[in-house]
Amino acid sequence: MASHPTASVRVRAPGKINVFLEVGDVQDDGYHELATAFQAVSLYEELTATPADDITLEVAARGPVDIEGVPTDDRNLAVRAARLLAQTAGIDRGAHLSIRKAVPVAGGMGGGSADAAATLLACDTLWATAIGRERMLALAARLGADVPFALTGGTAIGTGRGDQLSPALAKGVFHWVLVPAERGLSTPEVYAALDEHRERHKQDIFPAVRAPMVGADVLQALRAGDPHMLAESLGNDLQAPALRLRPSIAEVLETGEASGALAGIVSGSGPTTAFLTADADAALELHVALSASGYRTLRVTGPVHGARIVHD
Ligand code: ATP
Repeated sequence: MASHPTASVRVRAPGKINVFLEVGDVQDDGYHELATAFQAVSLYEELTATPADDITLEVAARGPVDIEGVPTDDRNLAVRAARLLAQTAGIDRGAHLSIRKAVPVAGGMGGGSADAAATLLACDTLWATAIGRERMLALAARLGADVPFALTGGTAIGTGRGDQLSPALAKGVFHWVLVPAERGLSTPEVYAALDEHRERHKQDIFPAVRAPMVGADVLQALRAGDPHMLAESLGNDLQAPALRLRPSIAEVLETGEASGALAGIVSGSGPTTAFLTADADAALELHVALSASGYRTLRVTGPVHGARIVHD
């Protein structure tokens, strides 16, 4: 019997750090308006799509990632991405998706979004849908606010829900040391904690008079490729609510900053903390110091490319 080689498509998609994140008011649709500067970093999800009759999924860890909380049914963002693409492109075939996760789950680094972006690219190639880049980006935005960025990668400004992207000029390489947490934080819960705090203190907090925006200092630091300048401009409105929900993050931030980091920040909705360092040597020194204090760390660089097919 003649056997046909199985064409499978392998894609790598990066996790992200929000080097700046300003959260505005809740919109009528329940989402917050926000302005963020994303940077894709060298921590990649790997996804392989293989021809199959139905859309099926398996998830494994690549490194010390706790994948217990990852659904493998229709709630998984990768499965939803495959279904949405098939439906949009009129495809009646399936795919078996195999994800190897390296990005911490519910860590504020957009791991699920990276899986969704990887799925769109892998299945588009597997099924030869030819939907084109623009429509793929539109599908990505329907799946989640961070999904378009996982496709494009690099350094970008996100507005709206974070899904309206414009590239940011960025020079050089930034060296980050990440401290993942044992347990994740739910993004909706972090936003709810922010809303609750703002509601409780609305007498003292002036209402926002402008839409959220990424400051000129952030853009300038990225353009200059200057980690010292960027360290001064890091900002995240979700950091305070993440700290309220997970007070232990404060200690991680203090230890990192006392151990040579230029600055530390909670990534997105947390609880992963990201420390910016001056260069590769400084990142190594910080890794050694944090390890000695009992923290597990990951050294990554940014910016890196978005979801891409990997050829063996
Ligand atoms: P973001 O920074 O985009 O808000 P995150 O990095 O904090 O997200 P994810 O790891 O992307 O969080 O996933 C958050 C939740 O979404 C998980 O706890 C899980 O229940 C669900 N989920 C759905 N699909 C996936 C996936 N492919 N990988 C991980 N979690 C997924």
